[in-house]
Amino acid sequence: MARAGVLREIGRPFSIEEVELLAPAAGRVIVRTHASPFCSTDVKNWKGQLYKIPPTILGHASIGEVVEVGPGAPAALVGRRVVVPGTPECGACYYCSIGEPWQCGELFDLGGIYPDVARGADGALISCAGCVGGYAELMSISANQVFPIDSDLPSDVLSMLGCGVSTGVGSVVNIAGLRPGESVAIVGAGHLGLWMLQAARAFGAGRIFVIEPHAGRRAIAERLGADLVLDGVDGEATVARVQEATGGRGVDIALEAAGPTAAQRLAVRLTRRGGRTVLSGFEIGGADVALPQVETALQSRQILSTQNGHVHMRTDLQRYAGLLERGLLDPKPVYTRSYALDELDLARDRSGSLEDVCGIVVF
Ligand SMILES: [Zn+2]
Ligand SMILES: [Zn+2]
Repeated sequence: MARAGVLREIGRPFSIEEVELLAPAAGRVIVRTHASPFCSTDVKNWKGQLYKIPPTILGHASIGEVVEVGPGAPAALVGRRVVVPGTPECGACYYCSIGEPWQCGELFDLGGIYPDVARGADGALISCAGCVGGYAELMSISANQVFPIDSDLPSDVLSMLGCGVSTGVGSVVNIAGLRPGESVAIVGAGHLGLWMLQAARAFGAGRIFVIEPHAGRRAIAERLGADLVLDGVDGEATVARVQEATGGRGVDIALEAAGPTAAQRLAVRLTRRGGRTVLSGFEIGGADVALPQVETALQSRQILSTQNGHVHMRTDLQRYAGLLERGLLDPKPVYTRSYALDELDLARDRSGSLEDVCGIVVF
């Protein structure tokens, strides 16, 4: 038995209840959860904007200790502390075989129908949203989605590796391919944007611009060394200010970490001709982004996608933990506070109201 925060009805309080975890199926492991960040994506999931089907356990990135393995899963995992990121790496699907594990079929070929991992008191099966289900004391996870981590850092800090840190650092390094001295604009200074900002600084960005409507988050971006921080309320004025500060051209790299389609359009418009824009947010399933045609078709601007930072989980998570250990990335400005599982609704409310940059459910 394990306590879990179950999404039983869209838009209703989480049901904190005892569930019976199913015995691990072939290739799966049971992980005793240490910590799971409350990601802003789960506010959208709770509102029913991203097609999650109740009853389900949200929480798509986590950390914990492997306590049991199912048939065919490596027994050596038992007792290991593992990061459970948002993306598996099966090594065998089409995408893994061509070196693009961030589109691993073990997650993305499921069509949004996730494995059942537990049974509620009513006997009905409960799924794990995104194949993780981190808002529970125990998780049933594919052995392809747990990655051992060696670090002296506490689990609450390391829990941020699986979504925010990997997507933030990966967007800068793997996707935008930041070269020393390049100018960077970050649209949205939430938990993802602030990791992008720290990564841009750590990897040698030139001038860094941050566009963020929330005053408290703008203040954090300033403390983290952004050169110019704007509220972005007037899009045209924002583009003009950034162009003015970049020789009339626009930035080399724009990183969007906000969600609204208008923010994605703004990010593209902030770049110079030939600049790169990395889009990461999503507002609601089915939304379209309108982009300026000449600027994208004729002026060589590149529109890039990030999915979990295009990281190779087996190698990059340990490396990114090293960035935290050496202080190149600082968790403090991002990690607002911790929550007990019983406080899951409060964590959601404070994420939705932007009071928290990142709250972490600790067990
Ligand atoms: Zn997330
Ligand atoms: Zn795969």
